[in-house]
Amino acid sequence: MQDQRREIDRLSQRINRDGMTQLLNHTFFQDLLTQEMARSRGAQKPMVLILADIDHFKAVNDTHGHPTGDRVIQAVADCLRSNLRENDHIARYGGEEFAIVLLDTLVPRARDVVERLRRAVAALACPAGTRSVGITMSFGLAIYRGEAELGPLALLERADNALYRAKSDGRNCARAYTVTPD
Ligand code: GH3
Ligand code: MG
Ligand code: MG
Repeated sequence: MQDQRREIDRLSQRINRDGMTQLLNHTFFQDLLTQEMARSRGAQKPMVLILADIDHFKAVNDTHGHPTGDRVIQAVADCLRSNLRENDHIARYGGEEFAIVLLDTLVPRARDVVERLRRAVAALACPAGTRSVGITMSFGLAIYRGEAELGPLALLERADNALYRAKSDGRNCARAYTVTPD
């Protein structure tokens, strides 16, 4: 019985996590976001969704090769994880894009968290042969305050919208979604 439970735990870890980074995978994150939004609404506690994307990552692959690119993604994943709390959720959302949920959080605290992440990622030096690779990341934030009409896809769209602004404002920065952009 205990062996069966252990096996189920092992398999669900494999199904829910990304093999390269051990972060939550895209599919699992979608379900989790839906659940956390329902919980946030029920408990009347706001939460913040963050989308984070490595800047000019294509150039890392082009300059240093795909295996080095993979190591950079792993280093960024470790860095994000070690700079977040145990109960924050973090997923590899796409190739070089990550999604984070901060529970019971408003935008001011989320901005502090993101600033810490931004600095930590920018300070990474990933080994690439005899050289090392430095990268930066851009961040888009969207807050959920229990709005009944706002679903997970719409919240993701808001964070993506903010991320797009961070990119077009020069990258290596964070922007929060606002109805009228600041
Ligand atoms: P931007 O600052 O606008 O985000 O530019 P970018 O170059 O990061 O964006 P773009 O979407 O053009 O390129 C993302 C690159 O990430 C292209 C793709 O080959 C690479 N990539 C995606 N997944 C992986 C992966 O698992 N390993 C490696 N090495 N590269 C990956
Ligand atoms: Mg990118
Ligand atoms: Mg991308």
